[in-house]
Amino acid sequence: MPAAVASLKVSSREVDGGGTKAKLVALTFDAGSSAEPVPKILRALAQRGLHCTFFLTGQWIERYPEAARQIAEAGHELGNHSWSHPAFTSLSDEQIREQLRRTEEIAQRVCGRSTKPLFRPPFGARDERVRAVVAEEGYLTIYWTIDSWDSVKKDITPQMITDRVMRYMRPGAIVLMHCGSEATAEALPQLLNALEAQGYQVVTVSDLLRASEP
Ligand SMILES: [Zn+2]
Repeated sequence: MPAAVASLKVSSREVDGGGTKAKLVALTFDAGSSAEPVPKILRALAQRGLHCTFFLTGQWIERYPEAARQIAEAGHELGNHSWSHPAFTSLSDEQIREQLRRTEEIAQRVCGRSTKPLFRPPFGARDERVRAVVAEEGYLTIYWTIDSWDSVKKDITPQMITDRVMRYMRPGAIVLMHCGSEATAEALPQLLNALEAQGYQVVTVSDLLRASEP
């Protein structure tokens, strides 16, 4: 799987979903805060033999090297979520490059894997310039189709997450979720059941994009 990732075409375009009509969905997990729910998330995915995409910050890898290694060793795809989670729109070009490079370096060192070519902007903050600099560094900016709200809505329940994600589900959707959300970890088994019942297959972001190429 990691080898095939390199075949993705990097550009400054923004990706917020796949163009495929097939019932493929990419669940993505951003990691910047807690690592506590990670074992439960990994268990739910492993039980079904599924692989997803995890966007890690460099500081998160530094703080939770064991969790980061477990994610990589389980065969999930890694993406770059910056070093310290700043809004890239407020950084200089050079600061953006530094954020991406430091995270790539620690991912290689701790997980033995590259984060290229997938970048998820902290806070979703991005514009033309950010995407262009990010592309020069070898990354495609990956936004999302559906925000599960697991990081923005306080007291969200697993049922609310499942209901919301399924309400907006469509072929090629990229779903934003978070490694630090206990509600997401709890929701996963029922969410995966619901997706399966509707004929959806869960894939990595790069597999989704490859399936969407003309
Ligand atoms: Zn984030």
